[in-house]
Amino acid sequence: MRKITIAANWKMYLDERGSIDFIDKLNADKDLFSNKNIILFPSHACIRSVKDHLDVNVKIGMQDCDIHNKGAYTGSTSINSIDIDSCIVGHSERRIVYKESNDVISEKLRAVLSSDVDPILCIGETLEEKNENLTENVIDSQLSILTNDLKARNLTIAYEPVWAIGSGNVPSNEYINEMLSYIKNRLKSLYSGTDLDNIKLFYGGSVDVSNVDELLNVELIDGFLIGSASANFEKFKDIVKQLKL
Ligand code: PEP
Repeated sequence: MRKITIAANWKMYLDERGSIDFIDKLNADKDLFSNKNIILFPSHACIRSVKDHLDVNVKIGMQDCDIHNKGAYTGSTSINSIDIDSCIVGHSERRIVYKESNDVISEKLRAVLSSDVDPILCIGETLEEKNENLTENVIDSQLSILTNDLKARNLTIAYEPVWAIGSGNVPSNEYINEMLSYIKNRLKSLYSGTDLDNIKLFYGGSVDVSNVDELLNVELIDGFLIGSASANFEKFKDIVKQLKL
């Protein structure tokens, strides 16, 4: 049976106090969380405190990183700035709010791969793109950064339709299955058999306790990237409780 990963993208929801409170509650419920595949993505400024307080075996990641590893880049954060397990690149909020192009995302992926950190590449169409039947073109374009020199060892592709993020509009299981199958087929043309085994597919977009059980029926889903519901301890706990493994 597959072991689902829960990736908790706290975005800018939790400050340092809020992050520590969350970790204190997690520690108090050790038995529930310790044998699950969980990756927490605190904001950069809170990663140290989260790591210092954690008493449960969960992974820690960065929500984003700079394209550079070191140097005169005021206000930015290098992938090498702190020891972490995973890093999100290409989140739609980075693509849309911060106008990050595929080229920039590709450089970020390069930076992540130059360290010993596992990348999560987010892809997905906007509502306009969906309505114009451009979803597959968008996916092709966003996956096109996976050139030969950027083939990650443990790559995760998080399919996150932009229209599902923070909206409460979760696509049907059929739709998610169709998109993940499409992505998997595209990846098959890029990766050989054994490399393909190391690629995971996540779904993200308004996942919460009311829909996670139903979403688990999509067999291609290896994990969920969860935003707002993951930053509320009680909601997060209820989601984790739904996992069979
Ligand atoms: C996200 O931003 O990656 C996300 C999935 O957010 P939410 O769960 O809040 O829709």
